[in-house]
Amino acid sequence: MKNNTSVVRIEELHKQKTEVEDDIKRFEAQLKVGVDPDIDEADPGLTLQTVTVALLRNARRKIESIERALAQVKTGRYGICEICGQAIAPERLEIFPQSTLCVSCKSKQEAKNGRYRAAYSVVCAA
Ligand SMILES: [Zn+2]
Repeated sequence: MKNNTSVVRIEELHKQKTEVEDDIKRFEAQLKVGVDPDIDEADPGLTLQTVTVALLRNARRKIESIERALAQVKTGRYGICEICGQAIAPERLEIFPQSTLCVSCKSKQEAKNGRYRAAYSVVCAA
């Protein structure tokens, strides 16, 4: 499956990977500045730190999925669901080029990991 569309998506994956890696560096730098053992409990910095930790966690998860998708590119299985082996809908790959699961398998997985879902959609919608 080496048509123009998949070439564009693979480029998009590399681009996103660089962007997310930059985000991770930025969040890590913010956290280093933010970590203060004498921090007052009412300090608004604490909230910011909590948000940054959540964003960092999401960014790391995103890097993981991008890397998985890129690994699939190498094995020629990009665009094929890891669980059921069906082709992932092109519309889905357009929005999330890092998808390694079809909509049906992904929603089953998200139902299992329900507590991560809210934070994940916030980041993806940005
Ligand atoms: Zn599937």
